[in-house]
Amino acid sequence: MIQTVSVIGAGTMGNGIAHVFAQKGFTVKLIDVSQEQLEKAIKTIGKNLDRQISKGTIAESLKQTTLANLTTSTFINEGVENAELVIESATENIDLKLKIFNQLDEFAPAGCILATNTSSISITKIGSATKRPELVIGMHFMNPVPVMKLVEIINGYATDREVTNNIVELSKTLDKVPCVVNDYPGFIANRILMPMINEAIYSLYEGVAGVEEIDTVMKLGMAHPMGPLQLADFIGLDVCLSILNVLYQGFGNQKYSPCPLLVNMVMAGYKGVKSGEGFYKYINGSKELIVSSRFN
Ligand code: NAD
Repeated sequence: MIQTVSVIGAGTMGNGIAHVFAQKGFTVKLIDVSQEQLEKAIKTIGKNLDRQISKGTIAESLKQTTLANLTTSTFINEGVENAELVIESATENIDLKLKIFNQLDEFAPAGCILATNTSSISITKIGSATKRPELVIGMHFMNPVPVMKLVEIINGYATDREVTNNIVELSKTLDKVPCVVNDYPGFIANRILMPMINEAIYSLYEGVAGVEEIDTVMKLGMAHPMGPLQLADFIGLDVCLSILNVLYQGFGNQKYSPCPLLVNMVMAGYKGVKSGEGFYKYINGSKELIVSSRFN
């Protein structure tokens, strides 16, 4: 049974993935090229554990044991040398992921499963950057990882079914609900979600309605917990754009073409929650939803 896990990338998703594994007693190494990002991730995990304690979902003593299960590194080679499973959760960029998997194949022990949390990039393509494509699989967590139950598990063309079964059972030990799908652009979650988000952005771009109106219609009309524009900010507008580009290129269908407004916002650095502004403006610590002045 897998006990030692390395997580590559300590951003929005990587810190959440490291958190859930460490909380369940796995030995976790969190790796990022940025020491600052690693320090920020450990602080975020501490804050999220405090929130779980104040809500009564975990015992107070679990904070120390969880943090004690976690170490960090800025070096991929020493960071994966003892891993039985690596979960890559670095920036959504195909060239970067191919480079990382090439390195993982070199430095991770033989037999170590190499998973990726990619939202949309082909698992088959990522597997082809290694000499062990049968051990490469998609393990797509949802944001925020400690809260969301689903793990979308994606079989690449060459993925060994025994590896899939292992990852399904492992996901259950994290109290997650695994769902196995095949490797086509966007898999299931983002193939369905991203066209909806893109259509919401087109509706704003074409002046059909404002930010609040679009989100309110979808929240109250469709019982979505969050409107599509707020959700896009939460996911990261750069991540949404990357996924739409993968869908557009993968299917060659105009319906996935990213809205020019989304492209502009990402180029200008308005990436949503992580940059402080997207469709809404995020003021540190404030829970109030304030529409960006660009859309008023
Ligand atoms: P992010 O931008 O918050 O974090 C990415 C991290 O990767 C950064 O800390 C960066 O320093 C690090 N990184 C870049 N190059 C690296 C390298 N060579 N080695 C190690 N670390 C490196 O991104 P995110 O939102 O956490 O997304 C990470 C992955 O998870 C992406 O593949 C994304 O598609 C996927 N994902 C995102 C969401 C979401 O809601 N944001 C949901 C599911 C899956």
